[in-house]
Amino acid sequence: MTPAKPIESVAIISMHTSPLAVLGGYKTGGMNVYVRELSRELGRRGVQVDVFTRRESASQPEVDTSLGATVRVIRLRAGGYGTADPSSLIGATQEFAAGIHKYATLNNRTYDVMYAHYWLSGLVADVLRRSWDVPWVQMFHTLGAMKNRIANQPMIDPRVMAEMQIVRHADRVIAATQAEHHQLLWLYRVDRRKVSIVPPGVDTSQFKPMNRDVARASVGLCDGEKMLLFVGRLEPLKAVDILLRALHELHTVEPSVLAGVRLMVVGGEAGNPERTRLCSLAEQLGVDGYVQFAGSKEHASLPVFYAAAEALIMPSDYESFGMVALEAMASGTPVIASAVGGLQYLIRDGETGFLVPVRDPESLAERIRQMLIDPNLRDTLARAAADRAVQYDWKLVVDQVIEVFERAARGGRRHLNV
Ligand code: UDP
Repeated sequence: MTPAKPIESVAIISMHTSPLAVLGGYKTGGMNVYVRELSRELGRRGVQVDVFTRRESASQPEVDTSLGATVRVIRLRAGGYGTADPSSLIGATQEFAAGIHKYATLNNRTYDVMYAHYWLSGLVADVLRRSWDVPWVQMFHTLGAMKNRIANQPMIDPRVMAEMQIVRHADRVIAATQAEHHQLLWLYRVDRRKVSIVPPGVDTSQFKPMNRDVARASVGLCDGEKMLLFVGRLEPLKAVDILLRALHELHTVEPSVLAGVRLMVVGGEAGNPERTRLCSLAEQLGVDGYVQFAGSKEHASLPVFYAAAEALIMPSDYESFGMVALEAMASGTPVIASAVGGLQYLIRDGETGFLVPVRDPESLAERIRQMLIDPNLRDTLARAAADRAVQYDWKLVVDQVIEVFERAARGGRRHLNV
């Protein structure tokens, strides 16, 4: 095998959402964190990284260098200004690709590899590959076919058609989990030789176990109070309604367990339609007194929230990976999550937290009850969670991503392309 040529320059395409965006909005979460952390870690290793994202307003500077000395976030106008839903930007992918090409030409930039995150960015890479002789690595973050399946929508739509085209043309595809690997094989018929499994990571220098008394005081918990935590974009697939129903179950059957308990919901500003729906549901179920909607929080401010919590609850209908669960585990906090997607791999049931059947408030309530009444159990799970999370440190994850880049750059692919 040809020895790997070191990767010195990477073009990262993240068209509809920026690694610098404010997190916890309806559409800003794991994807932004992933691209930001990957870019930063590559930059720390001296790799020249150009991240191309859509410029959302004329007041945004075209180039931002805040992610590192060798990392540039380049904002290019495509499809007008303003935030936009990915599906409404399909028609702007050619314009965006032309913008990248022009920028690279004017600035004498060449790349060892281009990496596209999400299907929309994949469409942009698919345009660029026609004029660039640069290997293309694709990661989807989530797959349309899975989202449609969970939402009981028809399986094939323009996004899924685009994803099928992308898996045919990309040189390598990164799947976040074994489950996504299988989905790519069986739903998208990807050539299995193209796929590598590399999970997302966590910054363990930021998310790490800390003194719980300090953490509890920092988030305003008094003696005798206990916090359950949800963190994420507020959208129906995150199924916070099931968590409210689980609280209702406990409130009805064994209210003493909830004495001093507060459910902190982080993510989702006032006015977010899902937040409005959840507020009314909490009132309707008579559990609004336990619930605090805290709005979006800066990523850097989250470690104390995780550390202060008895458990992080992730009742999602679907999660391709679930970076929030990993952040909680790294902070020494057990996770109670629905047994779906990536969460099934991340969480070891009964060892680092609990997995419960999806959309099952009674099972969720029972696991929450156990966590609240048995501090020894909580602490044992917490220690195991932190131990497990260490293997997902971004540094180790980026080692694996670079290996994939090197494989793509060695050109072991062109014969696979259609
Ligand atoms: N997040 C944040 N502030 C918030 C809400 C979420 O920083 O108010 C971050 C969270 O810490 C995590 C990401 O957004 O890093 C969400 O990632 P996850 O994979 O859990 O969900 P996704 O957004 O991909 O569905």
